[in-house]
Amino acid sequence: MAATTHTVSNQPPPLVGYDVYGGDRALSEGVARHLASADPELLGEVGRELTLLGTAAGSAQAQGWGVQANEYPPRLRTHDRYGNRVDEVEFHPAWHRLLGHAVTSGLTDAWGRPAGHLRRAAGFFVWSQAEAGHGCPVSMTHAAVPALRTDPELAAEWEPRLTSHVYEEGLRPAGQKAGVLFGMGMTEKQGGSDVRANTTAAVPLDASGEYLLTGHKWFCSAPMCDGFLVLAQAPGGLTCFLVPRVLPDGTRNAFAIQRLKDKLGNRSNASSEVEFDGTWARRVGEEGRGVRTIIEMVAATRLDCVIGSASLMRQALTQAVHHAEHRSAFGAVLLDQPLMRNVLADLALESEAATTLTLRLAAAYDAGTDQERAFLRLAVPVAKYWVTKRCTPMVAEALECLGGNGYVEDSGMPRLLRESPLNSIWEGSGNVQALDVLRALQREPQALNAFLQEVGLARGADHRLDAAVKDLLTDLADLEGIEARARRVVERMALVLQGSLLVRWAPPQVADAFCASRLGGDWGAAFGTLPHSLDLRAVVERARIAGR
Ligand SMILES: Cc1cc2nc3c(=O)[nH]c(=O)nc-3n(C[C@H](O)[C@H](O)[C@H](O)COP(=O)(O)OP(=O)(O)OC[C@H]3O[C@@H](n4cnc5c(N)ncnc54)[C@H](O)[C@@H]3O)c2cc1C
Repeated sequence: MAATTHTVSNQPPPLVGYDVYGGDRALSEGVARHLASADPELLGEVGRELTLLGTAAGSAQAQGWGVQANEYPPRLRTHDRYGNRVDEVEFHPAWHRLLGHAVTSGLTDAWGRPAGHLRRAAGFFVWSQAEAGHGCPVSMTHAAVPALRTDPELAAEWEPRLTSHVYEEGLRPAGQKAGVLFGMGMTEKQGGSDVRANTTAAVPLDASGEYLLTGHKWFCSAPMCDGFLVLAQAPGGLTCFLVPRVLPDGTRNAFAIQRLKDKLGNRSNASSEVEFDGTWARRVGEEGRGVRTIIEMVAATRLDCVIGSASLMRQALTQAVHHAEHRSAFGAVLLDQPLMRNVLADLALESEAATTLTLRLAAAYDAGTDQERAFLRLAVPVAKYWVTKRCTPMVAEALECLGGNGYVEDSGMPRLLRESPLNSIWEGSGNVQALDVLRALQREPQALNAFLQEVGLARGADHRLDAAVKDLLTDLADLEGIEARARRVVERMALVLQGSLLVRWAPPQVADAFCASRLGGDWGAAFGTLPHSLDLRAVVERARIAGR
């Protein structure tokens, strides 16, 4: 009777073979909304591109690559068999498949294409649901473009390779590659947030912008990239440099990888400690303007932190809903049980608010007007603070929806949970974002104007939103202890912004539940505490994979 004991029942089927893009109503409707006034041909083209990517991301093959790339993490090889330094990192083939698919799908190419940021943001959101770790070099490569544009000569040389849809693994002179990847080196042992404490020294070789660097970087992710934007102290102060791994003559630049970090999550990706010793570098921008130059890159990677967290949240929600649709307990399917529905609806609100905000930011990049730039100046650090901060508790709660299965690696949920705090740390941790918001509020009045104009577009549509905006204005006018209160202020800004977007664009049941809980205060400290009078069934129904 062994067969009887091995009968498997009441377990969900594997969640594969679905379209991550088309199945996500909040995402696909959002993309269509932002492209509503675009040429219909463009809308069709973007839709086809994202459907292809979404179908690939939800395939058993890509999900399998995600598992393998994390089960077989990268390995550092410092020397070859003869004792020569090589400083190479070996990755499982699955890593290269994931990265290759990202690059060939245009995920490093936003800056020149029509609706480039929107389609790339949606694509990054979708493809990260196959695996999140490889998004790191994808993000840094995409983000290096605006920093390099401060030097037209360098941009002309490198931009076509950075935005290329060709993936070529392996270290060779960049001139021999059709596509390259970039990383960044800012953080040192004695200071990460405070980059002005950097001690890496840059000595000019001549007046042509070439320098030699000596020093170290405490975190340098994806060290197999072809080039890095690095901060170092030049005679004129902190300066941005381009450091290639391989010099044009084919010899290796001095780039000694000391070790790889043993990280909580993000295990498919290599994050290294590097030492520079007479490392050749080319200056980017003026001496002493390093932060100004590299901040162009950091602003773009901060948006990617928001996209990455929104993507993790959607993936966790999809898993939770899928489990609850197929699992019964106490005689009923979990999805139909009122308390589970409350939990799932609450998670769905958090996910849709993050998705909608993400797309709005990407569309603002595409618009590129002064008004949108002013809006982004505040909205990006606000979103980076809040969406990345919400990610970990949200993913943890989604994991619990799978019960004990969620705690087991096979479910994929532990990987999502380990990944989730990261976007809140790199590219400026929570406090650093909150302080950046204060800086913008104090020094750039046009940013607050643009932010309030955006929120004001929903004025009068929901009394709880109107009251929350009024409270926020009172909060902003009170400067006493503002630094210690910064997190609370930024949280409020994020919630009114998310609330205003949902009131304008989401189905009424979603907007109503968001405003009642996040703005109206009728909510507990844990997920699953929404007022029972709301239409939670409609909220959960919307979160299910469409067309499945
Ligand atoms: C997996 C991973 C990969 C990374 N990859 C890279 C990379 O490729 N390149 C790179 O350059 N860096 C990289 N980093 C480094 C990352 O950007 C830094 O860790 C981050 O910016 C924080 O810097 P820190 O670690 O020095 O912390 P610190 O600057 O020491 O900050 C510690 C804490 O203090 C808070 N804090 C700082 N200043 C203030 C203040 N004035 N008031 C209140 N609180 C404050 C911070 O918010 C943080 O919570 C990576 C980090 C991780 C985890």
